[in-house]
Amino acid sequence: MTEVVLSLVSSRPETPSVRSFMFTSEPPAKWDAGQYLMLRMEAPGDPRGPSRMFTISASPTEPRVMITTHVVNRSPFKEKLAGLPFGTPLKARVPMGTFGLHDDATKRAVFLAGGIGITPFRSMIRRATDAGLPQDILLLYSARTPEEIVFRRDLEILEDDNPLFKMVTTITRMEDSTEHWDGLTGHIDAAFVRKHAGPLDDAIVYAAGPPASVQGLVDLVAGLGVPNERIRAERFTGY
Ligand SMILES: Cc1cc2nc3c(=O)[nH]c(=O)nc-3n(C[C@H](O)[C@H](O)[C@H](O)COP(=O)(O)OP(=O)(O)OC[C@H]3O[C@@H](n4cnc5c(N)ncnc54)[C@H](O)[C@@H]3O)c2cc1C
Repeated sequence: MTEVVLSLVSSRPETPSVRSFMFTSEPPAKWDAGQYLMLRMEAPGDPRGPSRMFTISASPTEPRVMITTHVVNRSPFKEKLAGLPFGTPLKARVPMGTFGLHDDATKRAVFLAGGIGITPFRSMIRRATDAGLPQDILLLYSARTPEEIVFRRDLEILEDDNPLFKMVTTITRMEDSTEHWDGLTGHIDAAFVRKHAGPLDDAIVYAAGPPASVQGLVDLVAGLGVPNERIRAERFTGY
């Protein structure tokens, strides 16, 4: 793990409530797809203090360090991040964590996520695509509304570019949307996983996101007979 100084160079909205922030790093940050960093920033009055962990949503094959987070209902920390002037130096520790794509190409990867839990999967899918990795990857993703599908365009492009990557998205609160959607609706449940992922005997199953959501997904796949050693979870403690 190294201490680096990050400088914000750009940011972009991913959805109405989620934004990505792109940084340069000095010295250059090194990370594996799926890992996270600890960002330090004084935000007066923040009850949780000056540090937050964020998955690096960029792949190591991309030039910038990127983090992606909710910027509505925000804490003083997020308030400051959302209004950060370009070039502001921020200390970070990078890389952290062991969440990452397995090497065994005979086992396919099944990624399960809802909402913001997509961040490590974007990194892993982008890395697998750029590096031409041989693993089959299936992403089962749920978003509240079509508008809230994080990285929608990126993931569509990756699906076009990588014949081994497939994504199935389901919408859980269509009543909150004004967008036309003729895709799937409903939560990721056992029937959904069975239907779209098929038998999981040959799969390593990954779940990421807020702890309650991850626990639900882990229990679900355990209930489908996937043993612990083939389930990998990244809990976004703090949500
Ligand atoms: C390994 C790891 C990786 C992480 N990766 C990410 C990441 O990629 N992106 C990211 O945004 N966070 C990530 N987190 C969580 C992050 O560190 C913060 O704890 C989180 O973003 C909440 O930040 P906040 O306290 O500033 O609250 P805010 O996001 O400003 O939210 C304010 C309040 O609303 C609640 N809240 C907001 N949205 C939700 C939600 N979807 N579910 C439940 N409660 C909610 C929060 O608990 C908080 O009390 C990660 C945490 C860990 C440990």
